[in-house]
Amino acid sequence: MTDNTPRLFDADELVLATHNEGKVKEIRARLDGRAVHVFNAGDLNLDEPKETGLTFEDNAILKARAAAVATGKIALADDSGLAVDALDGAPGIYSARWAGEGKDFKMAMQRVYDEIRSGQTPDNFGAAFVCVIALAWPDGHCEVMRGECRGTLTWPIRGVDGFGYDPMFVPEGHTQTFGEMDFAEKQSLSHRKKALDQIFARCFPI
Ligand code: IMP
Repeated sequence: MTDNTPRLFDADELVLATHNEGKVKEIRARLDGRAVHVFNAGDLNLDEPKETGLTFEDNAILKARAAAVATGKIALADDSGLAVDALDGAPGIYSARWAGEGKDFKMAMQRVYDEIRSGQTPDNFGAAFVCVIALAWPDGHCEVMRGECRGTLTWPIRGVDGFGYDPMFVPEGHTQTFGEMDFAEKQSLSHRKKALDQIFARCFPI
């Protein structure tokens, strides 16, 4: 029998194991009001581990554990991406890699659009943003939660806010892309918030 008892966050410091400014901004905003000193991976000069996992869960755990072991502090990592229905879930865990070394997300979005259009089946622009959050302790214990936001991809891209694939993603029930929405509106709907809400409900007593 596996022990599913939550491990409570019992520290006053937390490391955010990401160098992605967009993620840092959203996670920090969600942490607001908690008496926790937050360190960014960049501030601590943490290396970015190779994302060798085959799932969002594998990669989130790998990143959180590497940061927790390197710092001796509890670390939170996010592995996320865009899963496109017509591309069998691609780019998925490879979402950052589709943008190349230069982090060119216009190119990555163009590739998503071109691959959908070149498919054999009728165009299907359904997609989901997926986010897995892992909270790791220096002893290796890890709590993991997943959030998803379903929507439709649009072309041409619209909006300049957010990051990554935001300008091509219209969340279900809305007409604006994440790239057109203001920060608070994206924040209230996002896959990242859904995963963070679950981690906070499970591990943060207050
Ligand atoms: P990774 O988790 O470091 O592998 O990177 C995830 C990649 O997925 C990011 O670089 C973005 O391209 C994309 N992504 C994840 N979350 C979002 C989001 O909220 N908006 C737009 N793109 C995202």
